[in-house]
Amino acid sequence: MLCDLHLHTSKSDGVFEPARLFDEIRDRGLLLFSVTDHDCLDAYPVPADLAAKLIPGLEVDSEHAGHTVHVLAYGVQDKQSPLLRALAAQRSDRHARMQTMVQRLCELGFHVTMDDVFRNAPGATSLGRPHLARALVNLGHATSVSDAFERFLADDAPGYSALRRLTARQIIDLIHESGGVAIVAHPMRLRAASHLEELIELGVDGIEVTHPTASIDDERNLRMLARENDLLVTGGTDFHAPVPGRPIGVDFPEEDLFALQSRLSANATA
Ligand code: AMP
Ligand code: ZN
Ligand code: FE
Ligand code: FE
Repeated sequence: MLCDLHLHTSKSDGVFEPARLFDEIRDRGLLLFSVTDHDCLDAYPVPADLAAKLIPGLEVDSEHAGHTVHVLAYGVQDKQSPLLRALAAQRSDRHARMQTMVQRLCELGFHVTMDDVFRNAPGATSLGRPHLARALVNLGHATSVSDAFERFLADDAPGYSALRRLTARQIIDLIHESGGVAIVAHPMRLRAASHLEELIELGVDGIEVTHPTASIDDERNLRMLARENDLLVTGGTDFHAPVPGRPIGVDFPEEDLFALQSRLSANATA
């Protein structure tokens, strides 16, 4: 079944405005989708004709053992929920942290300003590294977004500054308090293999098994781990910007999607 449960818009660090992404979702004929901007729900609500195919959600930045963990929160769409209220501080720290990264780049000899970042973040309420990466490309300091990440912005690169975040434990609890399910996003990006086991211990409800960073073998292993621990599985493209030959949408087993939907409706009536 063609679905995509991991999509970004220009409300965080994607390049498509919500309306443009909704057109893409229609054109591709997705049967189920979720817009999962970083730390915000500002692309919501979705147009009425797409509402029946929506699983509401967002992607939340958290910290575990000193490293970044992204958690997908599905079934949360209330901007007054405990999760979204807790994330308000995290979103404003994204601004302060961006200023730190801009300053670091200037000190490294690559002049860039907050205005350059904002020019590359039209409409964004959640600032992220891709905005800065695009500014660096437009200024000629980097040849591509991935070049900007490799040389300046990756987690261990000289221009990086960590976001002040809540812990994975706090985020998982807040997602549950808000009636949602917590899924470990792109587990292949976790810093240590042990982190996935630890997140399962902390009570996540599932694992994103289909993602561009997971090979077929990775996906098989992740599915096995999910089955052993009675966890949900999800998948998506993590779309940020169009890549030729890589349209949105992944083919995902219907029964896995039904399992997710029935957990969400059980939560909604609980
Ligand atoms: P931030 O939330 O500001 O820490 O930025 C995280 C976003 O940066 C992720 O959602 C990815 O879109 C992007 N990103 C992280 N690492 C890389 C990388 N090595 N190359 C390209 N994009 C990256
Ligand atoms: Zn992103
Ligand atoms: Fe992510
Ligand atoms: Fe993402």
